[in-house]
Amino acid sequence: MDVDIKNNIEKVFEGVEEACIKAGRSKEEIKILAVTKTVDVDIIKQIKEYSLFEIGENKPQEIERKYELLKDDFKFHLIGNLQSNKINKIIDKVVMIQSLDSIKLTEALDKRLKIRNMTMDCLIEVNVSNEESKSGFSVTELMDNIEKFSLYENVKIRGLMTMAPFTDDEYRIRKTFEGLYNLKNTINNRHYDFMVMEYLSMGMSHDYKLAIEEGSDIVRIGTSIFGKRNY
Ligand SMILES: *Cc1c(COP(=O)(O)O)cnc(C)c1O
Repeated sequence: MDVDIKNNIEKVFEGVEEACIKAGRSKEEIKILAVTKTVDVDIIKQIKEYSLFEIGENKPQEIERKYELLKDDFKFHLIGNLQSNKINKIIDKVVMIQSLDSIKLTEALDKRLKIRNMTMDCLIEVNVSNEESKSGFSVTELMDNIEKFSLYENVKIRGLMTMAPFTDDEYRIRKTFEGLYNLKNTINNRHYDFMVMEYLSMGMSHDYKLAIEEGSDIVRIGTSIFGKRNY
């Protein structure tokens, strides 16, 4: 079945605008990250026509495979699990790692960045809803360890990322997003000189409007642009 990318993207733009109006925000504040996992390169290329130039992939191998074909037009974000032994595969290919989910990974990443004399923008992944199946720091775990990030100077923490529970319960989804928003403020109120939380990456195809209302800056949209895939 053919997917109508143009129509899908227009609907997402409308949805973002609608949520922004509701929240009294400007739509220019919101970055739409197109999640391109499992999508073919030829299809991905179609989205630049709509000024979508940043893409999210969840597997290092997939970034490695698509990078040469897309690097002239797009910037890659890693949004999925990263094992330390895969860091070198993506370190020179992504502009941001949104899924920093442990101190161990942060340390390993910092070490490899220092070798290359480079820095990396990162978001800390937080499991706000404390679901067994989700990766990321719990809120307590993050607050207990937050000062450790000062040790890793080449890892530039720019904000937080979360996934809401997969549910139709709007209240639970909002609570998760609100939790991440509050966490950002809690951290910023401590005025650390080694990190300032600027961005919240939250909201996917089924909940991005709620996320924008709750303060998201980056929404990660796959299905609503490219149609249903088997992840
Ligand atoms: C797949 C994925 C998305 C996009 O999900 P959709 O429901 O297809 O919009 C967003 N964030 C992460 C971390 C993902 O793995």
